[in-house]
Amino acid sequence: MDPSPLFYQAGPALPEISHAQGVYLWDETGKQYLDGCSGAIACNLGHGRNDIRDAMLAQLDRVAFTYRTQFENAPAVALAQALVALTHHHLEKVFFVSSGSEAVESALKLARQYFVARGEPQRRRFVSLRPSYHGSTLGALGVTGYEPLEAPFRDIAIGSLKVAGPDFYRHDDADDSRHVARVLADTRAAIEAAGPDTIAAFVLEPVGGASTGARMLDQTYLEGIRTLCDETGCLLILDEVLTGIGRTGAWFAYQHYGVTPDLLATAKGLGAGYYPVGAVLSRADIVETVMASGGFQHGHTYAGNPLACATGLAVIEAMQRERVLDNVSARGRELKEGLLALKARFPWVGDVRGLGLLWGVELVADADSKAPFPAEQNRFALITVLAKEEGLLIYPRRTLDGVAGDHFLVTPPLTIDAAGIAELLTRLERAMARFDREVN
Ligand code: PLP
Repeated sequence: MDPSPLFYQAGPALPEISHAQGVYLWDETGKQYLDGCSGAIACNLGHGRNDIRDAMLAQLDRVAFTYRTQFENAPAVALAQALVALTHHHLEKVFFVSSGSEAVESALKLARQYFVARGEPQRRRFVSLRPSYHGSTLGALGVTGYEPLEAPFRDIAIGSLKVAGPDFYRHDDADDSRHVARVLADTRAAIEAAGPDTIAAFVLEPVGGASTGARMLDQTYLEGIRTLCDETGCLLILDEVLTGIGRTGAWFAYQHYGVTPDLLATAKGLGAGYYPVGAVLSRADIVETVMASGGFQHGHTYAGNPLACATGLAVIEAMQRERVLDNVSARGRELKEGLLALKARFPWVGDVRGLGLLWGVELVADADSKAPFPAEQNRFALITVLAKEEGLLIYPRRTLDGVAGDHFLVTPPLTIDAAGIAELLTRLERAMARFDREVN
């Protein structure tokens, strides 16, 4: 066979996928893998679901594609209404896109156009966290705080003010509450120095995703950022591309904290791996201001097409019918317990953190000093290879920003059952025992 023309990533050849069902996938040699990370934290309802397939086929039989400026389509309206209801009508307007990067990009542009329409064109800067990941398009990359991704494009991506968020694993403050107070004071000082009236929006993930290994924020911090945004007159954009649609045990992660954004970006789990669909949710008055100024100067061809929206609607209906959020909470407790037991057994597990079915495991060379493994040892890659050999998919990242170490995410489909969690932990333990032999 000719070598593949695809060039997604450097590294060894990948196994070829054959088929998948539930939380399991099989490659064409017959090897089985447990999907411990929902692909890229997207395939949230597992594989091969007949209800999603049937809804998609029914829509395909009616019409797959219409352009958003030519026809209203019922699945788009119904999905938008469902999303608004999930925010308890805090956010009342919806703009569909096809990916997480597009959702963040659209939110940034909506914020900017809002201030232009209000006669505040000097508000053209964004504030975001380092480390963070908000997507790969130039705007979303501009607010991303992840050095290897930024480096080649720094000169051409939009500028953004990068500030540190709280780090409850590694801080030198007297306690967590003083740590949060200091981080908020530093953030306020950075915004003061940059000029509060130049800021359009603060962008952040309510629970860190891949770039931080599920680093948690907390209620006081989020309340502090909300207050800071209100005082600065800028918008709060929450990036719930990864955390939205149930991943943390609430429909949106911000609902754990009671801090409401002005704009929210979501994607991944909305199409649950069956079809790409994402959305920006907005406060009504922001959209009204922009529409009164001549309409949102933005859009993508596939935005809000009937097939995408019928898929998203089928996903939300399935989650409601099956009370998936209850499962996330119950299985999340079992997963947390199992990961903490592994942490107690292996000294190089520095931290286990997360919420619902979003868990990060950070690997360190020394648990006392929390020193990371030397970057050139690529420990994040080793644990991922070993897990794959043991039939388990996990989602790895090396964190280069700040002092944080290698980590991986454990984010199985939200529909996984107790036996699935037990099997996931068994396979992970086998991989970790092999990793232990390699590093000792
Ligand atoms: N924002 C967050 C928090 C993400 O985790 C991701 C993807 O991993 C994105 C944005 C970009 O989404 P996509 O890969 O669908 O463009």
